[in-house]
Amino acid sequence: MSLITCKECGKEYSSSAKACPHCGKRRTTGFTKFVGGFFALLILFGIWSSFRGQETRDHAAQIEATRRASLTSDQRAKEDATRERDKRLSAARGACLMYLKTVLHDLDSAKLDSSYNWYVEERKNGTILVRPTGRAKNAFGAYIKGTWNCVTKQQGNDIAVVSMNQIRP
Ligand SMILES: [Zn+2]
Repeated sequence: MSLITCKECGKEYSSSAKACPHCGKRRTTGFTKFVGGFFALLILFGIWSSFRGQETRDHAAQIEATRRASLTSDQRAKEDATRERDKRLSAARGACLMYLKTVLHDLDSAKLDSSYNWYVEERKNGTILVRPTGRAKNAFGAYIKGTWNCVTKQQGNDIAVVSMNQIRP
């Protein structure tokens, strides 16, 4: 045990005390400093990586803008159309997945194939046919393979399921 001098009031007290008994000033130990320094570094690192992330995103956006600018207006229109189509198809898949989950006997145990692998087809009448596949538990608890025909239609901003039929076991 040794005596240390309080940084606040200048009086001496035992080094085993956590705070100065005269003025109550808490002692900063090496460990406290270490922890404080560690968190300061952590915060600095967080700020630095968020700057870096923004830089990377800006750079990617710049490259994309340059690429788009180099396209002809026809190419741009075609690209936009493909993007729109992908959006419609993925919305249709999503709607069918949601609907299927409500009609399956035991949705937690259903093992549907990834919806990105489901067959999809845009039809002339404006509907989209989605063909979900996967395995689901039947009423007897057995897994059976299933293929469904799910027809969706755009209704305002929403996509609605018009019909859902199991076409193959
Ligand atoms: Zn003191």
